[in-house]
Amino acid sequence: MRAVAVTPRKPGSARQVELPIPEVAAEMALMRVLEVGIDGTDTEINEGLYGESPPGSDFLVIGHEALSVVEAMGEGVQGFEVGDLVVSTVRRPDDCPNCRAGESDMCLFGNYTERGIKGAHGYMGDYYSETPAFMVKIPPALRPYAVLLEPISIVEKATFQAWKIQERMLWQPARAVVLGAGPIGILGTILLRLRGLEVHVYAKSAPDTLQGRILNSLGATYQSVDEHPVSGIKDKLGQIDFILEGTGSSAVAFQAMAQLGTNGVLCLTGVSAGNRSIEIPADVINLEMVLGNRVVFGSVNANRRYFEMGVQHFQQAEQRWPGIFERLITRRVPFDQFSSALDRRPEDIKTLLTIAAE
Ligand code: BGC
Ligand code: ZN
Repeated sequence: MRAVAVTPRKPGSARQVELPIPEVAAEMALMRVLEVGIDGTDTEINEGLYGESPPGSDFLVIGHEALSVVEAMGEGVQGFEVGDLVVSTVRRPDDCPNCRAGESDMCLFGNYTERGIKGAHGYMGDYYSETPAFMVKIPPALRPYAVLLEPISIVEKATFQAWKIQERMLWQPARAVVLGAGPIGILGTILLRLRGLEVHVYAKSAPDTLQGRILNSLGATYQSVDEHPVSGIKDKLGQIDFILEGTGSSAVAFQAMAQLGTNGVLCLTGVSAGNRSIEIPADVINLEMVLGNRVVFGSVNANRRYFEMGVQHFQQAEQRWPGIFERLITRRVPFDQFSSALDRRPEDIKTLLTIAAE
């Protein structure tokens, strides 16, 4: 079978490799991959900034956002049938208490693996084998956009956790700011609009782009940070209850801290794999955090609970804004052009690598 692999830490090493089709073990399912979404992590892995091979291997098959179909199953597999559509979760547990409790996204020991990212091969190939515990079944009606389930699971976790944290008081959030208009920013906006918040999105691209039109159709405002710098947001909007940072820029993350309203919460989701330092107004940020009971927290990955929430919200959002998710898929690239799929272009929202026809 074909797959796309990198040599971790070696820039631009993405290449096609030939691997044996996995055998169908008793407790495992063989998945045939239909399409794989590309995200910033994949690009950064191919830039040599991130990623780790499985033990004993000198390469890593990438890809962690896949829509697949069950091709075959071992005798021990229950709850699935050949032909079912599936999206698999990304992280695989170690033996820490959180992982044992099914929350490997909250892993304490750090010995987890992540398929396509850290210590385990990913999904960017014709087949992979999988344990049912990590397979999320997809209703057939969601086929056109179900590949977005992994990215939406990230913002499901981020928003769920923010609301959980805010149970510390009476909290009636009305206004949210989203930083970044990539998949995380747009999917986050969808969830916040479903929760009934007023949403203001700030990002690099100009307002008259596809991103802007999609956000406007969701009832969110969209501003370019070139004309509306992050440092001036709260003076313009007033009280901001929730900020979702989805640009991945650590500088933006620190600027956002100074924009939070009283009792507000800021969630950081960007994996900044670089090594940058910046100067920050530490006294001001510290004072504001204390005097306004503000919270800043980070959120990574998602366990299957958040994938299941994503399936529900897919259906709700699609009813309210028909076709919204398919509009996020801006490029479909055939397998042999995988290196073009890994390039980030300004007009891209979500690029898919097509692996197989149904
Ligand atoms: C993935 C997460 C993963 C994170 C850190 C993200 O791109 O969506 O599942 O935990 O990278 O490796
Ligand atoms: Zn763990």
